[in-house]
Amino acid sequence: LASEESRSAATPMMEQYIAIKANNPDSLLFYRMGDFYELFFQDAVEAARALGITLTRRGQHMGQEIPMCGVPVHAADDYLQKLIAHGYRVAVCEQVEDPAEAKKRGGKSVVRRDVVRLVTPGTITEEKLLSPSETNYLMALARIRSGSEPAYALAWIDISTGIFRLAETMESRLLADILRIEPRELILPDTVFHDPELRAVFDVLGRVAVPQPAVLFDSATAEGRIARYYGVKTLDGFGSFSRAELAAASAAISYVEKTQLAERPALGIPERESVASTLFIDPATRANLELVKTLSGGREGSLLRALDRTVTSGGARLLAERLMSPLTDPDRINQRLDSIEILADQPGFAIEVREALRRAPDMPRALSRLALGRGGPRDLGAIQAGLRAAAALSALLARAELSAELDEAREAIAALPVELLARLDSALAEELPLLKRDGGFLREGANAELDEMRALRDQSRRVIAGLQLKYCEETGVRSLKIKHNNVLGYFIEVTAGNAGSMTDTDAGRARFIHRQTMANAMRFTTTELADLETKIANAADRALAIELEAFEAMTREVVAHAEALKAAALALAAIDVSAALAVLAEEQNYVRPIVDRSRMFAIDGGRHPVVEQALRRQVASPFVANGCDLSPPDAQEAGAIWLLTGPNMGGKSTFLRQNALIAIMAQMGSFVPAVAAHIGVVDRLFSRVGASDDLARGRSTFMVEMVETAAILNQATDRSLVILDEIGRGTATFDGLSIAWAAVEHLHEVNRCRGLFATHFHELTVLSEKLGRLSNATMRVKEWDGDVIFLHEVGPGAADRSYGIQVARLAGLPASVVARARDVLAKLEDADRKNPASQLIDDLPLFQVAVRREEAKAAGPSEVEDSLRSLNPDDMTPREALEALYALKKEL
Ligand code: ADP
Repeated sequence: LASEESRSAATPMMEQYIAIKANNPDSLLFYRMGDFYELFFQDAVEAARALGITLTRRGQHMGQEIPMCGVPVHAADDYLQKLIAHGYRVAVCEQVEDPAEAKKRGGKSVVRRDVVRLVTPGTITEEKLLSPSETNYLMALARIRSGSEPAYALAWIDISTGIFRLAETMESRLLADILRIEPRELILPDTVFHDPELRAVFDVLGRVAVPQPAVLFDSATAEGRIARYYGVKTLDGFGSFSRAELAAASAAISYVEKTQLAERPALGIPERESVASTLFIDPATRANLELVKTLSGGREGSLLRALDRTVTSGGARLLAERLMSPLTDPDRINQRLDSIEILADQPGFAIEVREALRRAPDMPRALSRLALGRGGPRDLGAIQAGLRAAAALSALLARAELSAELDEAREAIAALPVELLARLDSALAEELPLLKRDGGFLREGANAELDEMRALRDQSRRVIAGLQLKYCEETGVRSLKIKHNNVLGYFIEVTAGNAGSMTDTDAGRARFIHRQTMANAMRFTTTELADLETKIANAADRALAIELEAFEAMTREVVAHAEALKAAALALAAIDVSAALAVLAEEQNYVRPIVDRSRMFAIDGGRHPVVEQALRRQVASPFVANGCDLSPPDAQEAGAIWLLTGPNMGGKSTFLRQNALIAIMAQMGSFVPAVAAHIGVVDRLFSRVGASDDLARGRSTFMVEMVETAAILNQATDRSLVILDEIGRGTATFDGLSIAWAAVEHLHEVNRCRGLFATHFHELTVLSEKLGRLSNATMRVKEWDGDVIFLHEVGPGAADRSYGIQVARLAGLPASVVARARDVLAKLEDADRKNPASQLIDDLPLFQVAVRREEAKAAGPSEVEDSLRSLNPDDMTPREALEALYALKKEL
């Protein structure tokens, strides 16, 4: 499209279009023409499909018709929202001069146009485009190659709230860290994007990952660029950052500048986050546990939905962030728990706090729109309402007993400038228009000149009413009306039949000036009316100018307090989260977990937070609580592993997940669904539950299972919690059993983590005889008349049978098939009794042997090894060699 030939073949307007499009190849170009944004060529085809609007044609280009579609300017936000949701980026191109100017240039001059804004998923601020309860992060990924291991860093910014964070990461946990933050848009150097080693990562991210030229991530100029943005000489005052962190931060800032063009969002100072301070949850586990969305992609049915009782959007966003990034530092976790406890102990106070919070609007997002010059009167109103709610809350908090965290929040709120609220109160009207250009947002008494202009305008309107009466009397036309429209302004209208009465006298002719003849009406004006009209228009213009001036002044004042406002908004969100979790704990009967640095994992009477709520809503049968104790048998040792057997539908998956969720809830700083819980912080959480089919990417279910299991066995530490469901199920029985067997040994001997291992292979239960920290547990069932009844109770021991046939019968398998299956089973069990797999335990040396060999190596060389080392085969005759071999054998 941008070729010489193509340009010279184009009309002047198309030429301009093509030039602008060439500068924005990866965005859809919204090209302003009158009241529409038009899209052409391939852009039009894609947008028409994504938006479901009509694709038309406009003229020809190089012998081909040009595809075109358009969206009306007044509804542009709705269309932008849809395109962003589809993952598109949009360049908004406006006319940047008065069309009169272009005319003056004469000839074929077209009005000058330019891109004034790039709208991308990670850089939006409009209320309509944003989801109130979700963060909207733009993330930059930088990689620095120096030394053996490349260093990676992430920088993430929510320009709708000003939050700016940084963290170092590494290749092995790159995807996990990105998914933890869930950016809407990830920019990264094209070299990294095309690195074959990282393909899998960016495959998962899909359209979210957007490659950019590598120069954007240049670390040499990074510090200077960041300093320039904040208008400081050096970054020393911000803390110290690694080179990769600087590169990521500077790329993120440059990208924000690039997309916002003239405007600068009020970004907070970048805060470093240490990755070790958050619980590592690998991507498969995050998806499987359905933390913020379910496997099918919905938010309903997720843990977040079950836990969210917040009353503000800021609180909802913070809760989601805490759930996505649980902590590993027991002190910080306990600070959060203290806040919940103190609020749960004062239920009346918690209710009052929530009432006050309910009146707090989304201050950070309003603030960011004001800072970007995209704010309206309602954004000032939001700041005003936020300040008012904060003042009420501040008074409330001053009277109560607070935790350290809540007291800090109270201080941030108390630090808000009271004079700003007074200023907004004295200026803003009760009802605010959406757009500042509509005027009418300053209250009476806010500005003396404005009041005067408004009086003049209203007075003139009264004078016009008086004129109408006067003209009626003079002309004798009772139906005469003075009306107003945008084309003529004020005019006098009479019916066609009465037109004669207006102009049949000389005085009338001199007075009533004809303006327009309609089908059955005639319109006139008078000099009196025209004068009044000018007065009204002037007064209205002047009034609007005064209002706009006041708007700008107030906006400047608000933005000047951006730091205090943002800090207070975060404090409000933190209070909301604490109060919401306190209310939840009370409502759902949750308890405060003991969280410390031990390796305990003792849950008494635990429940699944999501299933429990669902059961309560649907049926009368309550959730059966189950304990779980993976604590080390003695304080020095590693944690324990439970091997869980039981029939399908017995509740194994539910039990496995509930313990993982309880760990996550405890570490995000929430009370947990249990009677009592003691958890030594978990550093990494892994789970392999359910079949997450990945056939789309050409991997079989079994392959996915093995890849995920490999990741767990390679990465779990002695502080980790590992949840494995039916490993080895996807292959032939002996293969599967062998893999499951080896995996349990590895977890017990090498990873030494705490774990829950659910399996169908009852043969595995004999392992508990050899592995000291392994114990068997089973889902209890009752047999009744050949049927099974699931008790959903976890008890010690192993299941003696699978009850697969009974479950199949419940599922409605034909009776003949069930009967036949019973016969087959009896035969198989008979054969197994003659040659049971449980013999294995005696025949197989344990995994430990291999491990001991490793340990032996660490203990120093053995005698045999010393003798071997002293031999020199080159100096030996065959006979000497044989003798040496005999001697060695004796040493064994
Ligand atoms: P499994 O993994 O053993 O096949 P699931 O965990 O999928 O079994 O549970 C099967 C059904 O039993 C689920 O529909 C669940 O709602 C119900 N269930 C599981 N655990 C409990 C429990 N502790 N109390 C009540 N119902 C439960």
